[in-house]
Parts: sequence; C-alpha cells; structure tokens
Amino acid sequence: MTALTDDQLRFDREHIWHPYSSMISPPPVYPVTSAAGVRLTLADGRELIDGMASWWSVIHGYNHPELNAAAHAQIDQMSHVMFGGLTHEPAIELSRKLVEMTPGSLDKVFIADSGSVAVEVALKMAIQYWHAAGKPEKHKMVTIRNGYHGDTFGAMAVCDPVTGMHEIFSHVLPQHLFAERPNTRFGDTWQTDDIAPLQAIIEQQHANIAALILEPVVQGAGGMYFYSPEYLRAAKALCEQHDILLIADEIATGFGRTGELFACNHAGVTPDILCVGKALTGGYMTLAATLTTTQIAETISAGGAGCFMHGPTFMGNPLACAVANRSLELLINSDWRSNIQRIETQLESGLAPARALVGVANVRVLGAIGVIELDSPVQSAAIQSLFVDEGIWVRPFGKLVYIMPPYVISSEDLATLAHSMVNVVERYLSLAD
Ligand SMILES: *Cc1c(COP(=O)(O)O)cnc(C)c1O
Repeated sequence: MTALTDDQLRFDREHIWHPYSSMISPPPVYPVTSAAGVRLTLADGRELIDGMASWWSVIHGYNHPELNAAAHAQIDQMSHVMFGGLTHEPAIELSRKLVEMTPGSLDKVFIADSGSVAVEVALKMAIQYWHAAGKPEKHKMVTIRNGYHGDTFGAMAVCDPVTGMHEIFSHVLPQHLFAERPNTRFGDTWQTDDIAPLQAIIEQQHANIAALILEPVVQGAGGMYFYSPEYLRAAKALCEQHDILLIADEIATGFGRTGELFACNHAGVTPDILCVGKALTGGYMTLAATLTTTQIAETISAGGAGCFMHGPTFMGNPLACAVANRSLELLINSDWRSNIQRIETQLESGLAPARALVGVANVRVLGAIGVIELDSPVQSAAIQSLFVDEGIWVRPFGKLVYIMPPYVISSEDLATLAHSMVNVVERYLSLAD
C-alpha cells in the first residue's frame, strides 16, 4: 500500500477530469490504494464497505483470486489482438455463454468496448435493419422518460432530455420520441392505461420508428425507479403490432442484479436487441456486448452495405473476454438466485427504518438494489464525507441515496452497510434542518 503524496493529489485536482466534475471547483476525491472482497482501502488506511460495486460492475468482489488468475493466464497468452480477420478462444467462449444465458434466441453477438458503445451499436443495428428491409423512413427511436443509456451522442439522444442535462446538446442530437415513464411500480397492481402514452406515440408515428429502447423494469442512473414488468409485456406487444424493434438496455440490470438473470425475464419478454455491459467482467475492465436475432443480423447483412457498419479497435479484447468468461462461470455456478434473494430480504429490513424519517420520500428495494429517495437533492460532498466517516462507500446523486453491493457481501457486512446508510441519511437530514 502506498499513500499518495500531496503533489499527486494536487496534480489530480489541477489536471484530471473525474466523471461529471468541474475543473474550477473539483469535488473532493478519496485516494484508494487497494480493494479486496467488499472493502476499499483508502490511502490513510481507513477501510470502507463498498455499497456501489463500482457502478454495478464488481459483482464477485474486488481482487478475486479466480478472476486474477484468468487475467494473468490470458496476459501470458496474448493480451490483445485485432478482431478483424482474426478470432480467438476467449471471444468464442464468451459469445457462446452469452447466447446460452440470454433470453430467447438472441444468437448473434457483437462484442463492444463499453456500455455506451453497445447502445450505439444497438441503435445502428435497428436503423440498418430497417434500411436493409426497404423501410429507411423507419429511423427514429422511441423511449421512456427518465432513462439513461450512456454518454455518447447516439446514446445521449435517448437519455431523459431533462435529467440527462442534454439540452446543451439538443440542437446537435437526433430528435427522438419520449413517452412518460410507467406509473405502476414493481409489485403494484398493473394499471392498463399506463401504456397509453407509449401507445399514442407508436400509433401515430410507427411509420418512422425503428425501435423502442428502454431499461427493462429498473431505470438506473435516470432515477433508480422500478416499474411493473406488465409494462414491458404491453410495450413488446405494441412493438410487434407496429413493426418496431425492442432494444433492451440491460447494461445495469443484467447478470442477476434484479433477482432474475436479466430484467426481461421478470416479464418473460425477449427483446430483438439486447445490450449488456457493466458486470460482464465482474468489474475488472471495460467490456460490453450487443446481441440480436439471426433474422435481424441476416437482414442487415443482406442489405446494401453487405455488412454491419461498426468495428472498434479493441473489439473482442482477449484479456477482457477471458476475465468475463471466468466471471460468468462464477455467477452461473453459484446459487445466485437465492443469494440475491438473501440480499433483497436483508436490504428490505435494513433500510425500512428510513421510511420513518422526515425528508425521506420513498424507500424501495429490488434484488440487490436498495434506494432511499429524499424529498430534495443532496449536497453530494457533505453527505459523501459522512459516509466515509461511517466506514461505508455510497455515492448518491440528486435525491437518490442508493446501494447495489457486490453479490459476495456477507450478511454481517450488509447489515452494517444498510444500518450505516440509514444512520448517515438521518444525520444528514438533521444537519440540513
Ligand atoms: C452505465 C450504463 C450505460 C453506459 O455504459 P458505459 O459503460 O458507462 O458507457 C448504458 N446504459 C445503462 C442502462 C447504464 O446503466
């Protein structure tokens, strides 16, 4: 463990962008020197229980011996090689697993290098599909408000136009169609008219719509909102009726997080195009994938271009694929379903006391995701230091204080995490008074 020098930290402040940060008044950052299991070790020696799984990704915990071994073994073979004209076992075995574990007959795999790229690829597939099918006028996307699909231009254009703060770019973004998000929450009785806003848009404009893109069941970075799987079923039916492809963005929800292997499984719906990312390598490195059906892939390939028009430099990176293979094996060979159930049950009881706090609007849990929604937006830096003082790593945004811990968290650590989270929220709310 090496502590960071003052000079290094000054350099960080003066020269390095962190996600969504200012270069005039950069928010505080905590130097971390190592991580193992569910614990982050800070440079000053403090240990934090991690509630974030580094943005949904570190499902098996940090510094996992088997993932380390997979990475070492692959490095000694070949860390990277171009995917144009060459192929290799890590990519083949990863694609085989993805085809097997994803719903329905999603059997063509495009390996992408990040979630945003996987979304770009999905949008391009949908547009190229309709172009090849002789309907180039079908090029618009429809989506639901409060969604988040990534930070690149194509992805940004289908993020919530308000919370995504993308109005700065709106004049250069393609203009898509936005339906109100469903009101029926997960677990509540389905209100059939909840589909009406999407239905109205689709009935009016289906001739120009290529695809519906959404985060199934759980909207992540756009609001940590859990909605009824019935909405997904109704949306899928509308898509089929009106020749619209369904793109499921499972970059956050995929690989068990919501209690099903994929959130689509809550509804028994198979999308036409599926994006996965985040947890794919167990949080070791960036990797994502976009899957589609044989029919869509073959239509694209039979079109004017004769191929799908995308191919990143680091496509199919063997090192990332090798770690992803091991990570998916760890997941599939574990009793993930009852483990997520354990986390869900414990989060429900652990976070329940927050319901009684003045200033808390809603407390909700689904799978290994726990959310405390406040009445008003939090002061990030202030609440962040309270969490660190309490020995846990939680990073709220807007009104949302939420956790999605690594699946390997012990019941004891989870109890501490949930309890400390509620404590901090209570303290923060009383200070804010
Ligand atoms: C994080 C996320 C993305 C973007 O993935 P990156 O790897 O950050 O580019 C896209 N969609 C959803 C639902 C996400 O949660």
